[in-house]
Amino acid sequence: MGKDGFACITVFLSLSIQIFMVLKNTGNEIFTALRDLLANRPQKIALVTHENPDGDAIGSAIGFGEVLQNFGHFVKIIVPNDYPSFLQWFSTEIEIVIYERKNRRTKALLKETDVLVCLDFNDAKRAARLKKKLLEFSNPKVLIDHHPYPVDFCDYMVSEPEYSSTAELVFDVVELLGLTEHMNHNAAEALFTGIMTDTGSFSHNISRPNTFQVVAKLMEWGIDTEKIHAAVYHNFSASRMKLLGHCLGEKMEVFPEFRSAVIWLSQEELETFDFQPGDTEGFVNYPLSIQNIVFSALFIEKKDHIKASFRSKGSFPANEFSHDHFSGGGHRNAAGGEIKLPLEEAVEKFRQLLGDYQHLLLKA
Ligand code: 5GP
Ligand code: MN
Repeated sequence: MGKDGFACITVFLSLSIQIFMVLKNTGNEIFTALRDLLANRPQKIALVTHENPDGDAIGSAIGFGEVLQNFGHFVKIIVPNDYPSFLQWFSTEIEIVIYERKNRRTKALLKETDVLVCLDFNDAKRAARLKKKLLEFSNPKVLIDHHPYPVDFCDYMVSEPEYSSTAELVFDVVELLGLTEHMNHNAAEALFTGIMTDTGSFSHNISRPNTFQVVAKLMEWGIDTEKIHAAVYHNFSASRMKLLGHCLGEKMEVFPEFRSAVIWLSQEELETFDFQPGDTEGFVNYPLSIQNIVFSALFIEKKDHIKASFRSKGSFPANEFSHDHFSGGGHRNAAGGEIKLPLEEAVEKFRQLLGDYQHLLLKA
């Protein structure tokens, strides 16, 4: 082997060692197996996200999808249900199939899929109506995710809860798989979007320099971060802004003694404000900007259940709260769940629970 060959190996090894210092849970053998799995091209690869896909889910899927496609695979993205218009501006040729709308097409796609990649969720049940299809899928299944407490439902689990976002993790996985040369502008935009949205525009969920290091590398593809920010956050309808005004003006209840607040919305209210998917995204964060508030909840009436979102600051474990009372989970400071109760009763249950958590809320 020539000098160049040694130099290449040295660079690759030092890169791997550097990344493994960041990847705490995923052993080298998983990457060896994944490299083998993806080495034969072309294969049919389906990337799947959780229900109500957010910026991290869609961004990770498009980002990884672009890389796999440039590498020579046939890629499709499958999402369980609709996703908001502020995530529909990405430049990509990859087809995004919405299971809720295209049942038969999704089933046919899954039937011919060689490798399934689950992105940004830690339990098949987070894929809601797609859960059964995921569990039944018999070809290799890969998970790339950053939620704590993963359920072991894939053959290859890359689960790293230290990461700010799945998108940040996807970037490191791409490097570890030796696929960086197949990154492109579309992938960089999509991964940046995932990191930006899951960190609230770099305001939370960042505990490691790696997040910014990945962003710095993504910027080398010439992405326009100001344009991306505007595409996601300055793209609302007037009725969505009025719905937000209604929430803050009429539907927010603050409990200073518990350092908490709650907002709730009925189907009727949503219809009045011409609700579109994604319109309530971010509403749960607003009460946290009130002085001394560390816990915020948003309850939204759905067809047959109430969807709950929780956000907290500091040590208050929103995910444990959600797990214990609303069949949910998530991260310590951002969690969600659901409950089958009438809306008023769900909100009342929340009010009643605050007393039990006062000690934790006061020291958060
Ligand atoms: P959001 O409030 O934006 O829907 O979700 C915030 C976080 O909570 C996300 O990280 C998401 O994965 C998690 N989450 C949301 N809904 C559920 C749920 O029903 N079950 C579980 N286990 N986690 C959820
Ligand atoms: Mn995420």
